[in-house]
Amino acid sequence: MVRKAPRFSAEDAIRLAGEIYGLQAAAVELPSERDQNFRLRDSAGAQFVLKISNAEEALEVLDLQNKALKFLAASDTGLEWPHVVPTRSGNEIVPTGSEGGPAYFVRLLTWVEGRCLGYVRPHSPELLASLGRGLAATDAALAGFSHHAAHRTLYWDLRNAALARRHLGLLSGPQRRIVEPLFDAWEKLDWRTLPAGVIHGDANDYNILVDETGAKVTSILDFGDMVHTATVCDLAIALAYVMLDKQDPIAAAAQVVAAYHQRRPLAVAEVDALYTLAVTRLAMSVCYCAWQTSQNPNNEYLAISNRPAWALLERLAAMPADWPRDVFRRACASHEGRPTPDLLATRRRHLGPSLSISYRQPLHIIRGWGQYLYDAGGRAYLDCVNNVAHVGHCHPRVVQAAAGQMALLNTNTRYLHEHLAEYIERLAATLPEPLSVVYLVCSGSEANELALRLARAHTGRDGVIVIETAYHGNTNALIDISPYKFNGPGGRGKPPNVEVVPIPRAAAFTLPRADNLAAFFCESALSCAGQVILPPGYLRAAYDAVHAAGGVCVADEVQTGFGRAGSHFWMFETQGVVPDIVTLGKPIGNGHPLGAVVTTPEIARSFANGMEYFNTFGGNPVSCAVGLAVLDVIRGEGLQENALATGDYLLRGLAGLAQRHPSVRDVRGLGLFLGFELPAAEEADALVNRMKDLGVLLSTDGPLHNVIKIKPPLVFSRADADLLLERLDRVLG
Ligand code: PMP
Repeated sequence: MVRKAPRFSAEDAIRLAGEIYGLQAAAVELPSERDQNFRLRDSAGAQFVLKISNAEEALEVLDLQNKALKFLAASDTGLEWPHVVPTRSGNEIVPTGSEGGPAYFVRLLTWVEGRCLGYVRPHSPELLASLGRGLAATDAALAGFSHHAAHRTLYWDLRNAALARRHLGLLSGPQRRIVEPLFDAWEKLDWRTLPAGVIHGDANDYNILVDETGAKVTSILDFGDMVHTATVCDLAIALAYVMLDKQDPIAAAAQVVAAYHQRRPLAVAEVDALYTLAVTRLAMSVCYCAWQTSQNPNNEYLAISNRPAWALLERLAAMPADWPRDVFRRACASHEGRPTPDLLATRRRHLGPSLSISYRQPLHIIRGWGQYLYDAGGRAYLDCVNNVAHVGHCHPRVVQAAAGQMALLNTNTRYLHEHLAEYIERLAATLPEPLSVVYLVCSGSEANELALRLARAHTGRDGVIVIETAYHGNTNALIDISPYKFNGPGGRGKPPNVEVVPIPRAAAFTLPRADNLAAFFCESALSCAGQVILPPGYLRAAYDAVHAAGGVCVADEVQTGFGRAGSHFWMFETQGVVPDIVTLGKPIGNGHPLGAVVTTPEIARSFANGMEYFNTFGGNPVSCAVGLAVLDVIRGEGLQENALATGDYLLRGLAGLAQRHPSVRDVRGLGLFLGFELPAAEEADALVNRMKDLGVLLSTDGPLHNVIKIKPPLVFSRADADLLLERLDRVLG
């Protein structure tokens, strides 16, 4: 059809308007793919659109469009519709054409004032809701409309996605991997469950008009794709366009869906098919475009026009496949008068008040996937702080390991089990000799608590040296060795058997006192102290001094372990030391409560004084299955290597930010353990809250709470780093 498009000049249009309609008007051509449209203005200022239709267009399809316009104008849609203007002899469609050439059909419609949705930015929630209502009103009205020409085979009809799928072979391998599953999901749709009717069928950004406030949709134009199909396709097609170029495509789509559902309630089957249909439209688009490109290899515009669709498809492919459907279900449910529980109030009433909640406007997160978290409204947040979801939120391999073992057996470590044997063997193998004895526990606190007992049992003393602002856990004994707590609000100060050394600026280490020393606890890079990388040689100097005084050295790797350093699997290895005890937590179970202590046979023997150490949950088969899966994924997906490459890239990007923004100071990091300082806590807090509004999660730390910490899941990509840097640049600016 595109090849047989009419080619009339503006002069021709002026002539036709005069001859056929008795209209003396100026003409300007409007863009159109397969037809020709001229905007006419007569001397009195009245405006019209002269439509010259493709030679291949069936007359009855033009009649369908005219009848639908009249029907809608007589319905209660709240929208404005163009009127069909008859010729002087009372005809609504008239043939025209050049001699010997093909015949075209001419129609005249009244002009509807407004701005295209495509030119309105941003698309506010009010505007998206207005679009949903307008479309629903149109679909509801069209339920009473019928026309034999609507029962046609249209290549854009979502029922005919198979026509587009034939061109899959023209896509590249990576493109096919994104698009193929979408057609597979389309194939599984049960069309018999979807109410059918005549739809507009092309509610794209340039067919929707918005009033001068930019908040209200006033009209829907271009009925050239009208067809009888599943009614919900009308909304799905609109959603495909609504999602393009949006920071939060699913949240934006959900706003349209919610408003649509209020005006024309969607059946359950419609809600559940909606997302599949919307992405089917995108999949069809890129396939037809690939075909057009193959026919016109020199047309660069074709590829450019398709870029936003590909960008969106790539983003959607990174989401859990069933997530958008859940968001649409929620969007509809929240308008059915179901009470939404006041989560904050319940929390205030029943949860211990010594627990804070993140952000001035707390987040209601209900889904995690990879490096992304999703809130109840469908917004996606790039998670730059969760070092627990080490291999990515809800990694399917980890989930399967846990669920599979949970269904088989979950007991304790007093039985033999393959998972336990394999896990302790493989965990020990990641550590240098003589670190070979493993204790499995359920948290970082339990690990450090046990480490403290081991050190005290081994040395027969109870003194501990820790670093300023360190945090090692939430038990009584650990609060006593955590300056972050005992020197913080509500703290009771430093106990007499604990010594605090400053956050190191150089390799030198001065032992505060040598008597009674049991242990030196130190994170291998400091987290609560503000993402501090230890100066080279610091731990060697410290360990030498501690050993000389008869103490043991505990490396708290709860935050820093499992490849985050990038160059090494354990952060202490970057310091060239071997601790006597290593404590593990957070990332070890990717969110499953797991922790571990690894020590030397010698220290383990000292602890085995007759008193048994038993931990009900520690080392159970489910936990071991999870721990094994985490080790598998770190290796299988090259996550340590990614931490190195992406971490270096991000560090360089942050250094670039520091050059442009004087408030950014002391950018630092190793692998995906990074941070930088802002002048004070106020700036840091403001930045974190603003970044959250822009869909990026960060948090603060350090003695002055002015350090921005960055320690994302290790699946964090270069593209994520770019997004983080771009948003930081914006907010800092
Ligand atoms: N050590 C360090 C360095 C930590 O950051 C934490 C927790 N933030 C812990 C130990 C305690 O771990 P958990 O909260 O799992 O008990």
